[in-house]
Amino acid sequence: MNKIAKGFCIQKKEKITPGSGKSVTSNTAVVDFELPTLKEGEILAKTLYTGICGSDNSACLGKSNFDWVERPRIIGHEFSAEVLKLGPGDHGDLKVGDIFTPLAMLGCQDVECPACSVAKWNLCPGKQIIGFHRNGGFGQQVVLESDRVVNFIEGLTPEQGALVEPLSVVVNALNSKCHIKPGDDVVVTGCGIIGLMSAELAKAAGARVAITGIEHDRDIRMKTATERGFIPIIVSPENTLTDQLANGIVDSNGIPFGAHGKVDLLIECSGVPQVLTEAINVVRPEGDICVIATYPKEVAINATHLTRTSLNMRGSMGSCREDYMVAQKLMVTGVFPAEHYTNLYDFENINQAFEDSIKANNVKAVVKMN
Ligand SMILES: [Zn+2]
Ligand SMILES: [Zn+2]
Repeated sequence: MNKIAKGFCIQKKEKITPGSGKSVTSNTAVVDFELPTLKEGEILAKTLYTGICGSDNSACLGKSNFDWVERPRIIGHEFSAEVLKLGPGDHGDLKVGDIFTPLAMLGCQDVECPACSVAKWNLCPGKQIIGFHRNGGFGQQVVLESDRVVNFIEGLTPEQGALVEPLSVVVNALNSKCHIKPGDDVVVTGCGIIGLMSAELAKAAGARVAITGIEHDRDIRMKTATERGFIPIIVSPENTLTDQLANGIVDSNGIPFGAHGKVDLLIECSGVPQVLTEAINVVRPEGDICVIATYPKEVAINATHLTRTSLNMRGSMGSCREDYMVAQKLMVTGVFPAEHYTNLYDFENINQAFEDSIKANNVKAVVKMN
């Protein structure tokens, strides 16, 4: 019989609305599961730290955009792990004991694939996401392809390793989709970890940064944002970002932020359709909008306004190996201070970690797996 490990598993896809009284973890369970026999090119690893992603939460809540995930599935695509065993085949320099983080997305690697042929697995139509297409990092052990292993650079801790994937997504977006210049005024919409990471990297690039959240975020996520030096903007249907910018926002030194109610760049990380609709109103002509979020439905945009203001609106999907390398460096050098953003949970408290994340009662939940 194959080896058995414990893992956090999504089993059902019943739609759950947080706050409806139904437990947000009623679709999930901690289970014993069987590890598959290693195939050519695969390795067995012991997970160290695994982060909870917004997409994990969506899958747990049975949201329709994650219907395609087969159940039961051990989720988790943001993790650090240690190699326990190499399967048959060539694994390059990889050896037992190496600590790594996996590329969340594995491309088809067909030479004819337009994305894979330029090493952009994140854009491959046949990409396989660990934790969704196969069991992932919320198992105490995991089997994966050694092709997707990214070895740690010196100085990176296993705890930081759980944040490499989300940070790499922000690196990809900010590197190639945003034109941040020193002195720019940047607003980040949404104060989840992708929003907070975007704010940190925009600040590091010399911008002045504001970040939006809702009333519920005030005591935890927006508090962290304020402590990190970002201008907090609590928005509501009665007090929108557009209105607040038009009425005048100042930074902590009292200096006006966003000339004429407009910013140079908006980075959309909320996934709320209305926020993207509103985004084009608050960016100056020829300014940039970078969209990292995904949406539960189609979003209405005033396209004529987009044309008349010559805005650049760009999407950014996932990340590739080079972004993981940059993300590691940003953590080791302290440019992204992971310790300000991590809420650690032990594996015994994994249900609590998910409940807190789904209710936005933490900044970034990371589970110590073993
Ligand atoms: Zn993710
Ligand atoms: Zn491909």
